[in-house]
Amino acid sequence: MIADKMVNFVKNSSAIRAMFEEGKIMAEKYGAENVYDFSLGNPNVAAPAEVKEAIIDILDHEDPVVVHGYMNNSGYEDVRAAIAGSLNCKFGTAFREENILMTVGAAGGMNVIFKTLLNPGDEVMVFAPYFGEYRSYAANYDGVLVEVSPDTETFQPNLEEFREKITQRTKAVIVNSPNNPTGVVYSEETIHKLAGILREKQKEFGTEIYLISDEPYRELAYDGVQVPYLTKYYENTIVGYSYSKSLSLPGERIGYLVIPDEVADSQDVIAAANVANRILGYVNAPSLMQKVVARCLDAEVDVPAYNKNREALYGGLKKLGFQCIKPEGAFYLFVKSPVADEKVFCDAAKKHHILIVPGSSFACPGYVRIAYCVSYETIMNSMPGFEALAKEFL
Ligand code: PLP
Repeated sequence: MIADKMVNFVKNSSAIRAMFEEGKIMAEKYGAENVYDFSLGNPNVAAPAEVKEAIIDILDHEDPVVVHGYMNNSGYEDVRAAIAGSLNCKFGTAFREENILMTVGAAGGMNVIFKTLLNPGDEVMVFAPYFGEYRSYAANYDGVLVEVSPDTETFQPNLEEFREKITQRTKAVIVNSPNNPTGVVYSEETIHKLAGILREKQKEFGTEIYLISDEPYRELAYDGVQVPYLTKYYENTIVGYSYSKSLSLPGERIGYLVIPDEVADSQDVIAAANVANRILGYVNAPSLMQKVVARCLDAEVDVPAYNKNREALYGGLKKLGFQCIKPEGAFYLFVKSPVADEKVFCDAAKKHHILIVPGSSFACPGYVRIAYCVSYETIMNSMPGFEALAKEFL
């Protein structure tokens, strides 16, 4: 009796989530310390102390009728103004409160912007490998996802193929850097070239192509690597941000969209996004969390803890002979499967209680994703299992 569209959504329902559930069952069976669950990007470092302090202070001192009440569908004006001011300080932009729309995480933001922009049949371009949920987000609004195949040498976007695949129907392009699942940060050179191609194609087709920068991992970058702020490189850029990873608040569902004045028809886009936020049923982003993040704009999670995991996992696996590039950001390692069918490798890993995700979930078969947002002990204790896998497959 369920809707035809949902039949497909259920059938293709996230392999990652399924594995997360399997991990919980395995943990009950073998003991949590004997299961090495690298399946989900669920942060293991605690939210910074400022978050708890802000929650307590707000609940102790602010009017509960306001704190738990409805507000403008785009969010509290003072919160949006504070975020705009913080971005302007960091990136030299000139955003105002009107350019910020508070969302239910990055996922909520992506759905709001697709509902705002897409007509049925409009094309949304993605660079493989990419976060698999984009398929559902585009399909929710009858958008057509157009994949650009991966450059497996660098995992930077394949710009030649990108240029060829842009059409009259291309409405949006998603960029996710630092990237899930590769950990790659798109270089400034790449962004310049990508912006140039978009401008060229807009002119050729007489269309507007929106660049959607999905950046929940912006703050997780290592070795001082800079993550370019895309609104500065291309006028039609809309940013989707989230505090799920940067403040370790994934269950609280809080993020925002930036819709700059430079975006084509910005006033219409801003007004439509406000309505989309409401009629998608979000109504507004969680009230208490809006107030919390406004007080934690300079708070940071323990990025060095992720870095320590990155070094241990990357170093450990390279030493065993596995092939992968060193991630510059996020908390994922994308490893070449030693067998062509990476699902065979993932199944073999499971026998050693190691849970990793097949690259086909990210439109990049032949690779596996290992999420290292786990404890350092989990990484160290999983090494004998990886060693056994190396002996079996390499
Ligand atoms: N985009 C990417 C690339 C992600 O990896 C994730 C979550 O893992 C999301 C969006 C969704 O984030 P949120 O929890 O803020 O909705």
